[in-house]
Amino acid sequence: MLERNVQYLKGVGPKRITKLNKLNIYTIDDLINFFPLKYEDRRSVTLIKDIIVNKKLLLKVTIISQPKYFKVNKKMKITKFLAKDESGYINITFFNQKYIVEKIKINNSYYVFGKCKIDNNHYEMMNPDIEEISNRIKSGRIVPIYALTKSLTNNELIKIIVECLKQYLKDIKNVLPHSVTEKYSLMNKKDAIKYLHFPSDSKKYTMAKRTIGFEKLLVFELGLISIKSNLYDNKIGLVQKSHDLSDRLLYVLPYKLTNAQQKVIKDIRNDMADNKPMNRLVQGDVGSGKTIVAIIAMLDSISSGYQTSLMAPTEILAFQHYETVKEYIELANIQISIEFISGSTTKKKKNEILKKVKDGNVDMLIGTHALIEKNVEFKNIGLTITDEQHRFGVRQRALLSNKGNNIDVLIMTATPIPRTLALMVYGDLDISIIDEMPPNRQKIITKVIDKNSKIEAFDFIKNKVKEGRQAYIVAPLIEESETLDLDSATEVYENLKNNFFIGLSVGLIHGKMSNNDKDSTMKNFYDKKIDILVSTTVIEVGVNVPNSVVMLILNSERFGLAQLHQLRGRVGRGKYQSYCILVNENKSKTSKERMNVLAKTNNGFKIAEEDLRLRGPGDFFGSRQHGLEKYNIDKFVNDVKLINDVKDATKSIIKNNSKLDGEDYIELKKSIDKLFNKENIVFN
Ligand code: ADP
Ligand code: MG
Repeated sequence: MLERNVQYLKGVGPKRITKLNKLNIYTIDDLINFFPLKYEDRRSVTLIKDIIVNKKLLLKVTIISQPKYFKVNKKMKITKFLAKDESGYINITFFNQKYIVEKIKINNSYYVFGKCKIDNNHYEMMNPDIEEISNRIKSGRIVPIYALTKSLTNNELIKIIVECLKQYLKDIKNVLPHSVTEKYSLMNKKDAIKYLHFPSDSKKYTMAKRTIGFEKLLVFELGLISIKSNLYDNKIGLVQKSHDLSDRLLYVLPYKLTNAQQKVIKDIRNDMADNKPMNRLVQGDVGSGKTIVAIIAMLDSISSGYQTSLMAPTEILAFQHYETVKEYIELANIQISIEFISGSTTKKKKNEILKKVKDGNVDMLIGTHALIEKNVEFKNIGLTITDEQHRFGVRQRALLSNKGNNIDVLIMTATPIPRTLALMVYGDLDISIIDEMPPNRQKIITKVIDKNSKIEAFDFIKNKVKEGRQAYIVAPLIEESETLDLDSATEVYENLKNNFFIGLSVGLIHGKMSNNDKDSTMKNFYDKKIDILVSTTVIEVGVNVPNSVVMLILNSERFGLAQLHQLRGRVGRGKYQSYCILVNENKSKTSKERMNVLAKTNNGFKIAEEDLRLRGPGDFFGSRQHGLEKYNIDKFVNDVKLINDVKDATKSIIKNNSKLDGEDYIELKKSIDKLFNKENIVFN
């Protein structure tokens, strides 16, 4: 039932379907799981005599005068009503809003919600949210506020969700086994869903959120564990223990490996020499030197007689790897065959390369997602590496390791995760950490400013561009939002291009653009055809544009520190002094404290620990979600206690019922299969 299309809901016609689809809502299940971003407390009615100006309040009033109309200009018409309650009088004013105004009747009573001001000694409420007493949905309640795009209003969505819960709440099944719900004092799922949309009080809300968070995290953890046991248990992999080629490279390397790099290489070599398949994650801050580690591992595999692949999430990044590898092997005068494929490789060329790969005549294949396509077949692959893993997701990685039989898998990520969480977040992997930077790194100057200083920051960018440099400007949203007062990349781009940065070349890149458009914009930036690139966090992944020296982040308070640190890593990659400017629009003390952590340190692991302390664990799960996007664990997992409880529950399930047998576990099993969507996840 929950898989039904939203079109079957009452009140959802073709127009609304398009709007819902825009929010990634297609099925009833999607809709039910589209949880509010925040809530507005409209539980108590304020008397007119107790009004506090400029604060959003709910009044219960009777309209006592016919409307008065004022025409301000052609486009603007004001309508005023006089209203009263038992304690006083107030003017209710609407700008335009013809549709609403026409429905208001004299002598009728209404709830009105909005901010009041005093004008000429009279109270006035402008453009309130108005509801008939007998037909109220929001008044007297805690009201959900959903994150919407411009086309759909919060009121519309609330009505749709009310209708949806009325029809389908009964079909929601408990995913958590009864014993778990009981032991950890959780709710049943129907209630949890209901209270998340329409909480009756904060206690119910907290419990609902905890229940859904618990479920999501447990499903995730059990899924990872099953992947891990599939990969490891009783599997015989390859023995790859030659170091001939890599030793030759190490001999001519123009720098000395850091101790951390050496240690990680040792971990990898041990794994590869062992006949158990390697399944290792290398975590290392931006610039910590992961690429050379990857190259050494690949050379080891090649000199042991196997083929290798290296996958990166964007074309530019993949191509940069290709060029770096070629430089290194030329330096060491190593004779191996390296090829590159991506979405933009011509069909003819691709077929040529794929044939060579299949015949075993390519030693190292480097590329983008193109590498996981079905038609890519290796003769004898021994090792596959993915860079910037969090962009791929668990599922895509599994596809890559399926290209061979129990091959070794190495994953590299620049997102530092606190040690306490790493085991949870990467439950399916062994972990090595490069926790040391190569010497003599330039320090990026980081400044936190408030929004009043934005113009100065833009000026600063202008000057840097005049000196021949480039800059990034990052905004939290793609498009303008109805409910969130945040900068969006599209708006900022239009604004700056047509005003402040006239005469400069401004570009725009965001996640809703096609991969081709993204790649070509990035390439234009790389080729200096764009001076200033306005973007969402899509540029977070390791693109190298050494000429770009300013990273300006708008509404920086909206990001996790780890993510900000990652973004900052986009600059400071060349010989020029670089800058990171954080525009913090939140005046709270914690927000300032958080931003200052970044100004004070450049160490990704320290920053991650601070982030965990100040914001809770959610963000770290978020970074693992790409590819499982709709799942949104991060929004629910907001305290360490929940994490520990789930850890505890996971352990006990694995110990007592690792096959998830029994009726009480059916839905849990289904959810795991659905999340990882795989034939090859089997519980043993
Ligand atoms: P990341 O971990 O972000 O992928 P890279 O592998 O791109 O980092 O390395 C960043 C830069 O540091 C490269 O120019 C690389 O040549 C250089 N580098 C790597 N290891 C060392 C080292 N031990 N000493 C000096 N420079 C190094
Ligand atoms: Mg890298």
